[in-house]
Amino acid sequence: MPNAQRATAGAPPPGDPAPRGRDGFRALRLVDVHKSFGGTRVLHWVNLSIERGRTLALLGPSGCGKTTLMRIVAGLEVADGGEVHVGERMLAGPGVNVAPEHRRIGLLGQERALFPHLTVGGNVAYGLGRSPDRDARVREVLEMVDLAGFEKRMPDSLSGGQQQRVAIARALAPRPRMLLLDEPFQALDVHLRLELQAEVQALLKALGATAVVVTHDQDEAFVMGDEVAVMQEGHIRQRGTPSEVYGHPASPWVASFVGDANFVPGIGSGDTVATPLGNLATCCPASGKVAVLVRPSHLRLVTPATGGDVDASATGQVQAMRFYGHTTECRVQFGENVLLARSDRMPSVRVGDDVMIRYEGPPAVAYPASAMAGLRRNGKQRREASTSPAR
Ligand code: ATP
Repeated sequence: MPNAQRATAGAPPPGDPAPRGRDGFRALRLVDVHKSFGGTRVLHWVNLSIERGRTLALLGPSGCGKTTLMRIVAGLEVADGGEVHVGERMLAGPGVNVAPEHRRIGLLGQERALFPHLTVGGNVAYGLGRSPDRDARVREVLEMVDLAGFEKRMPDSLSGGQQQRVAIARALAPRPRMLLLDEPFQALDVHLRLELQAEVQALLKALGATAVVVTHDQDEAFVMGDEVAVMQEGHIRQRGTPSEVYGHPASPWVASFVGDANFVPGIGSGDTVATPLGNLATCCPASGKVAVLVRPSHLRLVTPATGGDVDASATGQVQAMRFYGHTTECRVQFGENVLLARSDRMPSVRVGDDVMIRYEGPPAVAYPASAMAGLRRNGKQRREASTSPAR
């Protein structure tokens, strides 16, 4: 069996079925959802589910169909076919289309969009109608998001993080079955975004909420998601925990989208692949022509002077270096190709140095060489400027 297929054989298939956890209850289940706009297929028979209390990050590049899928779940868009189930209830499917306001799905858009003229309490109460327990519910959800006593404050007197929590409280107030967060941090500066990702992730966990976080940012997906579903051109290409998706990407495209990637050619024979970097152990049997995924942090560079007993058959020349403080990136000319190496140690090499290159990663993932065509056809590396895959 080709190695790429073997590499993902232990992971759930793209999309579904989701592994069932402690209570095995699927809060959301999408079956064969498809959608076209003006003759262009935007969603291809998507199958996806989430267990209660879990957060799924839906990760994909701009235009791959993430928002359309979430709008179909929320009832703001109608699919051409397929089914949407939340809990035991079918919300959309043959002959069924429950109105958005009856779906009990909390939606947080790309902006926090609090009403500036309403108090915090007024904002949170907005979706509660005239229910008799309205004030009690407002107090309750504000306590849940750690903003007890903020009812009378105006939104512009709150920090960005507090505003985000008010928006979550507002979404939670009508007791939704689940939350959809569509690029919730996109409009924020990088520091606030990092802070809020961690804060909201902790909050969702503490509340035991079921949530889908839509993002095109791999770091955000990995921080926020118990699991990540990677979407490309309307297909779910892989679904798994962040470490499964990063460590065993289902294809070269997924590997490149979720992080920087070098691809080194090789010939597989069982559990090893012969490559220009030497013989590398693989995580799964490989045969014939393959492309081996090499993450930049798995390459160690040493000069003959500093290398000591390093046993490396491969040599290259340092072309460029970038020092980021916590890490240093080196581009190394390696035959006809350029490899990206990254290290958190202080660099012992300089531009122009001849270096020995050694693979110091886990058993490598190898893809049939033919799978690289998909990468070239479907786009570039996530950070193209800093990565040049060896082919
Ligand atoms: P982004 O991250 O940029 O928001 P996305 O992954 O959420 O992108 P969608 O907004 O779902 O992508 O769009 C998927 C494709 O469908 C795009 O090509 C978009 O132009 C197209 N599309 C979305 N809504 C409509 C519409 N109402 N009419 C026509 N085309 C649409």
